[in-house]
Amino acid sequence: MPTKKTVKRKKQKTKFVYFFGNKKAEGNAGMKDILGGKGANLAEMTNLGLPVPPGFTISAEVCKLFFQSKKQWPKGLEKQIKENLKKIEKASGKKFGNLSNPLLLSVRSGAAVSMPGMMDTVLNIGLNEKSLAGLAKETENPRFAWDSYRRFIQMFGDVVMGVPHFAFEEQLKKVKSKYQKKEDIELNTDELKEVVRNYKKIYRKFTKEKFPDDPQEQLYKAINAVFESWNTPRAVKYREINEIKGLVGTGVNVQTMVFGNMGNDSGTGVCFTRDPATGEDKLHGEFLINAQGEDVVAGIRTPVNIDQLKNIMPKSYRELLDIRKKLEDNYKDMQDLEFTIEKKIMYILQTRTGKRTGPAAVKIAVDMVKQRLIGKNEALNRITASNIDQLLHPRFQEKAIKQSNPLTQGLPASPGAAVGQIVFKAEDAEKWADDGKSVILCRIETSPEDVAGMHKAVGILTSVGGMTSHAAVVARGWGKCCVVGAGDVKMNYDKKTMEINGKTFSEGDVISIDGGTGNIYEGEIPTESSLISSDFKTVMKWADKIRKIKVRTNADSPQDTEKAVEMGAEGIGLCRTEHMFFAEDRLSTFRRLILFAYKAKQIQGMLSKAVKNVNKIEYQKEYDKVYEQYTKALKDLLPLQRKDFEGIFKVLKGKPATIRLLDPPLHEFLPKSEKDQKSLAKETGFSYEQIKQIVDDLHEQNPMLGHRGCRLGLTYPEISDTQIKAIMEAAINVKKKNRMKVLPEIMIPLVGNWRELKIARERAEQVIEEVFKTKKVKKNYINYQIGTMIEIPRAAVTADQISEYADFFSFGTNDLTQMGAGFSRDDAGKFLDEYLKLGIYDKDPFQSLDQEGIGKLVQMGIELGRSKKKNLKIGICGEHGGDPESVEFCYKVGMNYVSCSPLRVPIARLAAAKAVLKSSSKKKQQKVTKKSSKSPGKVRKTKKK
Ligand code: PEP
Ligand code: MG
Repeated sequence: MPTKKTVKRKKQKTKFVYFFGNKKAEGNAGMKDILGGKGANLAEMTNLGLPVPPGFTISAEVCKLFFQSKKQWPKGLEKQIKENLKKIEKASGKKFGNLSNPLLLSVRSGAAVSMPGMMDTVLNIGLNEKSLAGLAKETENPRFAWDSYRRFIQMFGDVVMGVPHFAFEEQLKKVKSKYQKKEDIELNTDELKEVVRNYKKIYRKFTKEKFPDDPQEQLYKAINAVFESWNTPRAVKYREINEIKGLVGTGVNVQTMVFGNMGNDSGTGVCFTRDPATGEDKLHGEFLINAQGEDVVAGIRTPVNIDQLKNIMPKSYRELLDIRKKLEDNYKDMQDLEFTIEKKIMYILQTRTGKRTGPAAVKIAVDMVKQRLIGKNEALNRITASNIDQLLHPRFQEKAIKQSNPLTQGLPASPGAAVGQIVFKAEDAEKWADDGKSVILCRIETSPEDVAGMHKAVGILTSVGGMTSHAAVVARGWGKCCVVGAGDVKMNYDKKTMEINGKTFSEGDVISIDGGTGNIYEGEIPTESSLISSDFKTVMKWADKIRKIKVRTNADSPQDTEKAVEMGAEGIGLCRTEHMFFAEDRLSTFRRLILFAYKAKQIQGMLSKAVKNVNKIEYQKEYDKVYEQYTKALKDLLPLQRKDFEGIFKVLKGKPATIRLLDPPLHEFLPKSEKDQKSLAKETGFSYEQIKQIVDDLHEQNPMLGHRGCRLGLTYPEISDTQIKAIMEAAINVKKKNRMKVLPEIMIPLVGNWRELKIARERAEQVIEEVFKTKKVKKNYINYQIGTMIEIPRAAVTADQISEYADFFSFGTNDLTQMGAGFSRDDAGKFLDEYLKLGIYDKDPFQSLDQEGIGKLVQMGIELGRSKKKNLKIGICGEHGGDPESVEFCYKVGMNYVSCSPLRVPIARLAAAKAVLKSSSKKKQQKVTKKSSKSPGKVRKTKKK
């Protein structure tokens, strides 16, 4: 039997529609999942008492239901819409469909996550030829009424009914040229009437229907169109690119229209409460007098700086400053807002958290802490990895810039420096980029259809539009270099050329664009990494105070090490010594070494099999000769390697350095082409045929699982010996000469069996002892360690055996992912994209650690390793060491450090701090839940008191 309560609950209707108006709203900013971002903020602003035109929001859930039930409205929705329409009428004092003073509505999309320009909007709903007369009378402006009507037909036709935009544009052009008018704004009422007549014909031609006069029909169709725009290919693509997942659909906001195009005492604009490019604490934006919102966003007319509003409409400007303060005090973050002034009355149509560049994000966060709007932890939580990434973006070299004259200048919409070949179509940008070219997408203006190409381009250049145009907003969000509104650039799509001040550039020509200044240059300008601001340093200091895990770097040269230390690296987590052998001055010596090493091994094999004594003597002689050459090559390499290590130790000034012994298979170092093999033959005294034979012999079907890592060191121990000697001699030299601490950590790669490490370690210790003796220093003169990488699944599951011989573990998660998931590092790219689309993996497991799979191996490796050695030092040196989510994982599983490439060090420092903040807020939450689950008794107690 159902209880009374359940019967009551069943009767309760589902709430689909939420009203806002008259300083009171049914929603608030916390209801983004239900109302979408726009709807939730309209409600919040209404509650704050800001001048928001009344309206209502249809919840995003309805969008889901709409698609689930074959585009039918859920039961009860229509009734709720009608009820809420009445509320709007009451709040606005106008009537929907009335012939005099009609209520006109806008219908806009708004999902929980902002998708600028991706979904649809319809304005001026409620207009027909009869109500238009009422509007003309009420506003005493027939021209305005007819202009609104023609805009409505165009927008409704395009968005709701799919009539091509150009068909309307053609009609508009025709009428303009008939009456010799240049701008739309010059058309008079009669001419606009003619445009309306033509538009209606076009509408009928494409839809086979008459343009609807019934306001209700207009509204319902517009609502459906907004729902449908949730699933257009461009919206789906945008969500895919921006990794927007888990949303149910878009909310629909139906709101009283206000007009910025009612004359010169009206206008519309978009502004940010702080500068979104630099973070400067100052109202920033632009507006257009006598225009509708779409004119600003679409970049059709180039808007005026918001500062000028102070002179044109001082009262409105003051109101805007007041609104800015109220919004920031409430949201405690930089806001991006849209406003309209209708006959001197200010209205706010939208606010949302403003997208910002990396430098701006850092400055705003630091300033807001100073202004006591937020605390340091909140500031850290707000700064993203991509913000930091942008901050460290390359910029053009100052010297080169001083020597170059820009061709022209546009608006600096999104910082960074881009050099690339020009293309004029988004599809071409995609194609060229897929072919490995760097391209700059050049467009008169961009539209949401272009997003895929824009994403692939290294930079974007447009000739019209302002700082809030589509190109600017989208590029800024991605941190992609972008210059907009470069009016001197004349694009010719047909010829695939652009002319800048008399100079013609064709598709494929190289240009450089500066998103920080808006300058455009011919040809390639060399770039350099970005300068680091004091705000950035402040943020990093805050992060360092909080984080508990160290951040090292993967670096193989003194230069890279220096850069990394500057970025805050606390040591080297991986020095891949093979990179040292690829250097020009030693590659040929190393190749010589490989040839003699291999030859020696071959003869050794023959010697061991030889039965006759004569043969044995012969082989031994030959072996001795070859071995001598082998050791000579090693001797030649020793001082070069020693010098490398000395350089690195000096830069590190006592910070630890994990140096990995040679890892890749030897054939990777040998020449592939006949020409190169012949010249190696000349250098070494081997015949071309011998070299070719050795290259063939060393060839492996599956080199990643082949003769590499410690397998090399165990079978060619002399190579490891030389490397260890070079490391230790360098350490002693630097300690002696430079009087600094040196902490070398010798790392044996690709261990899968503890015996490998045992043998390698014992031999290494002998070599080290020998070095100490020859250098005449005490046994513990250098505080060295010997450890291993855990990068083979077998190593992870037998880590307890391995740790007995290791002073440290470093997880090589590149190989661990390769071998654990069975994905070739070289070939997985061919199918991983599809795997991501199929949802098999959330993210590329080579970029972000597959925590539920490979992560288990890591966890097991740590637990087993420390089961035998409680304080075993453990880190990670795979690519994942610079990925924020993976860094969080490393912290959670108890690693001591992460190691990543130099430019990712600050990202890892921030991620490590955020990981601590996240886990402590989780712990706090758990405590609260624990308390509240125990609380009834306590509550009662307090009540008694
Ligand atoms: C690894 O495998 O994670 C690693 C760091 O080594 P490499 O990428 O050089 O194989
Ligand atoms: Mg590896």
